[in-house]
Amino acid sequence: RKGSVIITGASSGLGLATAKALAETGKWHVIMACRDFLKAERAAKSAGIAKENYTIMHLDLASLDSVRQFVDNFRQSGRPLDVLVCNAAVYLPTAREPTYTADGFELSVGTNHLGHFLLSRLLLDDLNKSDYPSKRLIIVGSITGNTNTLAGNVPPKANLGDMRGLAGGLNGLNTSAMIDGGSFDGAKAYKDSKVCNMLTMQEFHRRYHDETGITFASLYPGCIATTGLFREHIPLFRLLFPPFQKYITKGFVSEDESGKRLAQVI
Ligand code: NDP
Repeated sequence: RKGSVIITGASSGLGLATAKALAETGKWHVIMACRDFLKAERAAKSAGIAKENYTIMHLDLASLDSVRQFVDNFRQSGRPLDVLVCNAAVYLPTAREPTYTADGFELSVGTNHLGHFLLSRLLLDDLNKSDYPSKRLIIVGSITGNTNTLAGNVPPKANLGDMRGLAGGLNGLNTSAMIDGGSFDGAKAYKDSKVCNMLTMQEFHRRYHDETGITFASLYPGCIATTGLFREHIPLFRLLFPPFQKYITKGFVSEDESGKRLAQVI
């Protein structure tokens, strides 16, 4: 049978390119887990993904109810789950004030980490049931959350501190909207969320790999400087960032190439 893979945020960028690369092998059925159904349908069509190779299912990671609903709907579809790819993310580098998920968590950590954490935790059972020979749970990480890289040393650096903000609910009301309890910084919140993504995979590996045989991974896809991730950034940044990555850091990868890389890992 075909492999069955869920990719979150497959309506653009890396997620869409990965869905396309997998569909083209003819060996995968891709469940595109997206918050905007119409956008996802248009994206799949314009990428030329054949109808029989994908299904779109609604998922809004900024709502824990939606995550639970998605898992119910997926189970009702009767499809097996062989690989889960947590790819969706928001990046709000120019935000001056925090915004919040439906549950009242700061939006970047709430979406990128907490939504994916619940999704992964719930779908672990489904992955466990699959008879696929190489079951995987992959979260897309980033070098910006890693201080052993150049990009990870550009301030503000990721830092979870003693996690007092997270313990306090990450809601900016009685406590901070930042994990470390500091004042709000959208770029740092993104980097913190990516550290959480990477730590989640390490901890899942430690707790569940031996017992389930599932491979837990996190990867950096390269700098895909052209995706929607930078949509909230100032126009000058969006203009200069792709050539800077292409010619100066040489870390640039095209959406197509990054999709092929992630597909290979899957
Ligand atoms: P995009 O903005 O193109 O893709 C992000 C996707 O996430 C979109 O499909 C978006 O949906 C979806 N999304 C956002 N919020 C939610 C939500 N609440 N519920 C469901 N889906 C949501 O960016 P990229 O393709 O660049 O990013 C993909 C991954 O790659 C991210 O995890 C990012 O951190 C990582 N990454 C990217 C790098 C880069 O250089 N671009 C570098 C390192 C890592 P919608 O289409 O509806 O907006």
